[in-house]
Amino acid sequence: MKGLMMEFQLTLPVVLRRAETLFADKPVISRLPDKSIHRYTYGEMAERARRLAVALGSLGVAPGDRVATLAWNGYQHLEAYFGIPLSGAILHTLNPRLSGDDLAYIVSNAGDSVLLVDETLLPVYEKFKDRVRLEHVIVMSQKTEAPAGLKSYERLLADTDPRSYRERSVDENDAAAMCYSSGTTGRPKGVLYSHRALVLHSIGEAMVDTLGVSERDVLLPVVPMFHVNAWGLPYTCALVGATLVFPGPHLDAESVLELFEKERVTLAAGVPTVWLGILTALEKEPDRWKTQAGLRMVVGGSAAPLSMIKGFDRHGMRIIHAWGMTETTPLGSVSNLVSGLANASDDARYATRAKQGIPSALFEIRARGESGLIPWDDTAMGELEVRGPWVAASYYNAPGSDDRFTGDGWFKTGDIVSIDRHGYIEIKDRTKDLVKSGGEWISTVALENALMGHPAVAEAAVIAANHPKWQERPLAIVTLKKDKTATAEELIAFLATQFPKWWLPDAVEFVDAIPRTATGKFYKMALRDRFKDALLAKA
Ligand code: AMP
Repeated sequence: MKGLMMEFQLTLPVVLRRAETLFADKPVISRLPDKSIHRYTYGEMAERARRLAVALGSLGVAPGDRVATLAWNGYQHLEAYFGIPLSGAILHTLNPRLSGDDLAYIVSNAGDSVLLVDETLLPVYEKFKDRVRLEHVIVMSQKTEAPAGLKSYERLLADTDPRSYRERSVDENDAAAMCYSSGTTGRPKGVLYSHRALVLHSIGEAMVDTLGVSERDVLLPVVPMFHVNAWGLPYTCALVGATLVFPGPHLDAESVLELFEKERVTLAAGVPTVWLGILTALEKEPDRWKTQAGLRMVVGGSAAPLSMIKGFDRHGMRIIHAWGMTETTPLGSVSNLVSGLANASDDARYATRAKQGIPSALFEIRARGESGLIPWDDTAMGELEVRGPWVAASYYNAPGSDDRFTGDGWFKTGDIVSIDRHGYIEIKDRTKDLVKSGGEWISTVALENALMGHPAVAEAAVIAANHPKWQERPLAIVTLKKDKTATAEELIAFLATQFPKWWLPDAVEFVDAIPRTATGKFYKMALRDRFKDALLAKA
């Protein structure tokens, strides 16, 4: 039936209007490269975002054009988050940690016409500038000048009359933003986010049973704005009116802890590596930092080790474990405890918090094993498939990538999971990382998490190594904590108390550091290249 409800498009201009009318005085705080602090309000942000939209129009940017950013977390990047979609163009965030090769590929594949780049990231731009065709490069800094041939962001905004801004009518299904998946195998692939997806995702994130972001929160996204839109949090904050604190390029534990204390942060978000660094700093000097009681820290991107969840509890800080993907905008599931677990033992509650959680509202899950959909019995393993209003339906400009989508409208995540009766997902592996020993699956993630619970282990990755008899066997690669020692035999004996014998790694290799991808995950492909034949040599 038509005409029952008003026609109301779910778009980013609606989010910005709300931020501006209801939360105009709420602060947006940014740490600048020189470590000084910049403060202004959502009201000022909105005005400058409109200036940017007008300026882009006068540079010839047309609706649907891709405008890239190469920037840390800060207020100018936030203006781009709104200003670019307001102009009708698509915000395309680039990851400065990628190689020049990957960046050249991504910018060309997306067909970006304009780049907004932090002055401090100009050396990254230099690495690919000769291989791409950009019409304008705009430098973001505090200055009103830019190097020859480039434009100054501040000059551009200053020369623009915000009164000439006219809100264009945007269709909620138009693209507002895009991001490329990190691509640990093959080329990175682009995902377009519609206005509608970003708005519904913001509401999904704000729900109490997911991240519970509220107007009373002071939120610090350590997760970069180039990694799936800082998990959508800047949009969620603008929608609910939460204070935003941006760390700029300073992501070391001390700088982040200092911001926690000075700005009274109540909610933060980042990948496990960042939080492990912070936990180490806290354990070294427990009395040095005064954080807000009950500070919540969202952890995602890779698994939050149980030892880390317990470690932060000792400091009165609560880890909220979440799972998501570039293709899912990214929020998929969050591990808050349901009431049915109120009387469970401490161990059971911790084990649940270390799972990836139950799906957000409007997000549906199922998992497929070798003989069909698996039961939700906490044991059977299968590949997680998902669907919902913020799940991508295709990749951008990537022929041959249809195999990630099922015929009946689900996205195949590539994550191997079990699901328990409450609906908690537990990630056991990536399809491509799974160890298949003599036809049986072994979860490398479970072994890694257990190893990271050993007091001498700083980090551990487990890979499938070639084996003459079993095709593949697990091999552990371990970095020890400074000043701690452990032998391979000790670590395997430690695992033997928790896993069946045939799951135990055949060998342990000790390394100084585990290589990481540009988004901070263990770079298992590099480890496999180096160690895949290590067991053959020993056999
Ligand atoms: P990306 O698209 O780069 O964000 O990577 C998404 C992938 O990261 C997922 O498919 C998972 O394999 C992994 N991932 C994300 N969150 C978690 C988590 N909480 N625990 C384990 N793996 C995760």
